[in-house]
Amino acid sequence: MTFTGIAVINMSVLHKTNRIVLHGANLNISKATFKIGDGQARNVTVLEYKPKQQIAVKFTEDLKADQFCVLTLTYSANLSSTYDGFYSSSYTDKSGKKHILAATQFEPLSARKAFPCFDEPAFKATFLIKINRKENYTTLSNMPQTQSRLLPSGLFQDEFERTSVNMSTYLVAFVVANFSPVNTSVSGTLVSVYSVPEKKEHTEYALEAASKLLEFYNTFFEINYPLKKLDLVAIPDFLAGAMENWGLITFRETTLLVGTDSSPLEKQVVASVVAHELAHQWFGNLVTMRWWNDLWLNEGFATYMQYFSLQKVFPELQAENLFLSVRFRVMDKDALNSSHPVSTAVVTPEQVEEMFDSVSYEKGASILLMLNASLPGEQQFRKGIIQYLTQFKGSNTETNNLWDSLTQVSNPHQNVSEMMSSWTSQKGFPLVTVSRKGDEVTLTQEHFLLTPADASHTSSLWDVPVTYVNDSCSVAPECRQIFFLKSKSATLKVPESVKWLKLNYQNTGYYIVDYGDEGWTALINALSANVSILTHEDRASLIHNMFALSRQGRVSFERVLGLLNYTSKESETAPVTEALLQLSNIYRLLEKRQEFDLVSCVKKYILDHFGALMDNQTWDEEKSLSKQELRSGPPEYGLQAGERNVHPVSHRPVQAIRVKPDPASRADWSILYDKYKQSTVDAEKRNMLLGLASTQDTQLVAKILNEGLKGDVIQTQELPLIISTVSRGFTGYLFAWDFVQVNWDRLIEKFLVGSFAIQTIIKSVTSQFSTQAHLDQVKAFFSGLKERGSQMRSVQEALETIRLNQRWMERNLPTLRESLTKIQSQPEKQASGMSH
Ligand SMILES: [Zn+2]
Repeated sequence: MTFTGIAVINMSVLHKTNRIVLHGANLNISKATFKIGDGQARNVTVLEYKPKQQIAVKFTEDLKADQFCVLTLTYSANLSSTYDGFYSSSYTDKSGKKHILAATQFEPLSARKAFPCFDEPAFKATFLIKINRKENYTTLSNMPQTQSRLLPSGLFQDEFERTSVNMSTYLVAFVVANFSPVNTSVSGTLVSVYSVPEKKEHTEYALEAASKLLEFYNTFFEINYPLKKLDLVAIPDFLAGAMENWGLITFRETTLLVGTDSSPLEKQVVASVVAHELAHQWFGNLVTMRWWNDLWLNEGFATYMQYFSLQKVFPELQAENLFLSVRFRVMDKDALNSSHPVSTAVVTPEQVEEMFDSVSYEKGASILLMLNASLPGEQQFRKGIIQYLTQFKGSNTETNNLWDSLTQVSNPHQNVSEMMSSWTSQKGFPLVTVSRKGDEVTLTQEHFLLTPADASHTSSLWDVPVTYVNDSCSVAPECRQIFFLKSKSATLKVPESVKWLKLNYQNTGYYIVDYGDEGWTALINALSANVSILTHEDRASLIHNMFALSRQGRVSFERVLGLLNYTSKESETAPVTEALLQLSNIYRLLEKRQEFDLVSCVKKYILDHFGALMDNQTWDEEKSLSKQELRSGPPEYGLQAGERNVHPVSHRPVQAIRVKPDPASRADWSILYDKYKQSTVDAEKRNMLLGLASTQDTQLVAKILNEGLKGDVIQTQELPLIISTVSRGFTGYLFAWDFVQVNWDRLIEKFLVGSFAIQTIIKSVTSQFSTQAHLDQVKAFFSGLKERGSQMRSVQEALETIRLNQRWMERNLPTLRESLTKIQSQPEKQASGMSH
């Protein structure tokens, strides 16, 4: 399918030049005219430089500063068959009729595939859009439609208002489809949710969430959403979770549509993604990063605001637990040598794609949380961001502009820039070591790396706002004290009577802590006597930190088990979820090593420790969302991927342990597959797909992978989820790795080198390898790809992870055999009685 277009670009010349260079990719330009001031339009020749997706017009005479000119380009192009640019998509309705539609996804570099433009975020402009369509279609764009007229050709031309704001090209959007809306008005803005007609009844929750959140942000930022309308549109085939196009936010169906009887977990997904995308209307759309190196200014902020607003507007969704677990996950990634600073120089399209990772999103959000928690009073942070938005609205910024705004409003004066640049310009995070002699506590910081550092990184220092509580006052917020650790090492005084210290109160700081033998013992003893001496966030943080230290080799695995003993008294989900997730990782590694005796020991350990908690039937009646979540297994990646590509709830290691293997018969599988084909309820479909991909039958594994690639019955957007689900199982993990190698070229054609989808796929198929043979295989495959992906950061990450797994196995297999066999031989319910 093709489309044609005319782009009329009005520009004024800033300085003398004899050429204009702009972007255009795969556009066939048939005519180009150029006009200066009130002069005559004349034909010009357009040159194209394909490697850089650039087009240019050269002049024999210089254009002069302040001249006003118009470049008009007539072109045609194919509708894209991937998920970016102006692409075609389709869905089949209940009666079996196929409907074709077209939609756009431009961020980061694909507006140039739909129309010639200056496709960089700093080139802001206003846009006036007209779309010609057939009678049976409707169109949507960023602005409200002003008119529609019948053309002599029989097509209709819809025209939209010129955008009332300056915006970057990646935020332009349009949709040609036959969707129907529900809507409501919120402080002068018409909010609508669009879906395919037969899913209209699944739009109510999103409309309610969007309305409440829009009202919240209008008040919180003290700047009203600037457009007259806000559309939220569920697109049947859409790769990312959602995209924040100004006034026309596009979503995957699963991140926008839920039935009234959907579970709170499914509603949490919708509310989270809506909260994230709405925050972008300010962070990203109103104020935009100058270049992709500072993508975190968009994504870190939107992620932070997503959790913040949910806690205020939908406290019953318990977003704080989710935020806690995504902070743990990004630290696990950021502790690798292959990580990168929050602000990272990027040049190539692949590097730009790669910025869409958890460092930009979740680390960005984590350091904002840490900053907010270290400022005096709750309003200071808010004042700073209002100052920032007010000062820079309509324009572009760099990281330092944000810190400057926060410094300006700080009272007492605090140099926010000095503190925060240590967190944005260096990769990784510090390990703070505590050692105590009497009333003197010495804190030392070092770069926490899972793989022993090369010399270049050991000198990293951070400005760490260390918070702490002690046994005399440890739970209430007033107990918290703060100490700024700016050098390698510093001392603070505590009363001699203090029995123990817990640092990083509620885990709001982006660092981990080693308390040393004595410090850990004191904390473990205190917890064993009474779990409620620490907040549940603090308990989860101890578990996370201990596992990280053990993975690095700093503490023994026995020490880890020693801490976990206390969990027999644990009743909160955050610590249990963290423990389960960490143990499941080990379980899966052992399983893939075919250490089946150990696998059954770990399984027994998990069930003895947490089985009762997971089974607790009273949870069914309880409203507590996090407990429902626990029942379905830890959300290994939680919503971190909310707007990206991995589904929440997709990781269910614990269930896998309990019912595994669950080789539903082929007949059952086929019944489920038929149901999947017929269902139009998205949340239900997702669950069915997870079931289908969890099969332990090799032929069915092959079938589901191939169906995902083909894209007829199962949309190709689901392929990363299918691959990650298949990879988790014992039957499928080698199969999935093989599938990725064989189909690599088709995968990068669909999902683009460096994209979040490709990052997810690489991680899924390699993260459970722990042998030299697999390491060699992975290395050989990726290095053979050359420009087709060998340079990706996720490849480095994969290799480093395999080496770490290998090292962990070598170091811990003997101890594990010994410790866990001891557990195995103990009678039921006594299993937690391990000494440390
Ligand atoms: Zn975002």
